[in-house]
Amino acid sequence: MPRDAYVNGRYLPHRDAVVHVEDRGYQFADGVYEVVPIINGKLVDEIGHLDRLDRSLDNLEIPAPVSRRALRMIIRELIRRNRVTHGSIYFQVTRGVSPRDHKFPAGCRPALVMTTKQTKPHSAEMLQQGVPVVSLPDERWARCDIKSISLLPNVLGKQKAAEAGAYEAWQVARDGMVTEGTSSNAWIVTGAGKVVTRDASNNILNGITRTRLISLIQEQGYELEERSFSLDEALAAREAFLTSSSSLVMPVTQIDGQPVGNGHPGILSSKLRDHYLDFIHGLKDEA
Ligand code: PMP
Repeated sequence: MPRDAYVNGRYLPHRDAVVHVEDRGYQFADGVYEVVPIINGKLVDEIGHLDRLDRSLDNLEIPAPVSRRALRMIIRELIRRNRVTHGSIYFQVTRGVSPRDHKFPAGCRPALVMTTKQTKPHSAEMLQQGVPVVSLPDERWARCDIKSISLLPNVLGKQKAAEAGAYEAWQVARDGMVTEGTSSNAWIVTGAGKVVTRDASNNILNGITRTRLISLIQEQGYELEERSFSLDEALAAREAFLTSSSSLVMPVTQIDGQPVGNGHPGILSSKLRDHYLDFIHGLKDEA
């Protein structure tokens, strides 16, 4: 149980951390969030996450609640208080508290809350076996590039996946193309050994893990294509995997009950996971 949470300028015991009933995040999901992984006590790609937060805020015309310098100090103070060594820090910014009215209220101060989570690393067994995913229609809005706290389709999708015994749901657009998971980006490796992931557009959240892995793939000289792929192409692929701040690089070994490739984690997927872990182990605290 984390000891403290940060709520609008104060560090409070987690059980006492509350926001106002007229916070627009609560009433309209009018806000954005970020989750930064913490591994071996280090923040992973903090700057990438903070840049994406700024982008999400800009898109929704929500002013930054505090300066970046202050935000980074609060992040470090909460991690220190809660002694997090492996897990993540969650922060969300909403447009603030105001009597309920859809349009932007004048003079509303953005609200910032932050919590941490200590988690266990994924088991070796899960990594050796890979994980199953199911496919679902993508029923989200047209601005999936904004990391909005409005996550209802993602919640429903993840629940359907869990009910089907799967780890994740890969969402499929009306044109038959896979967009992404409910909380991760989707990847395949073709029969010719090319790594494929959907290009970053309004249709997906541009994952920070995705972006980092793309640069590692380029550094290592593997062939990469940023383009859409269909569910059929994924079903016929040699390998598949997913990326996210909490799953890092996770092999996908089944889609809708059918094995991907030989049904075991792919060689390239496992190598890419190792490259990603090497990157994490080499991390220094970002200045
Ligand atoms: N897509 C969606 C819809 C997500 O919620 C997430 C997780 N935030 C991702 C992709 C992966 O992003 P990241 O690598 O930054 O965790």
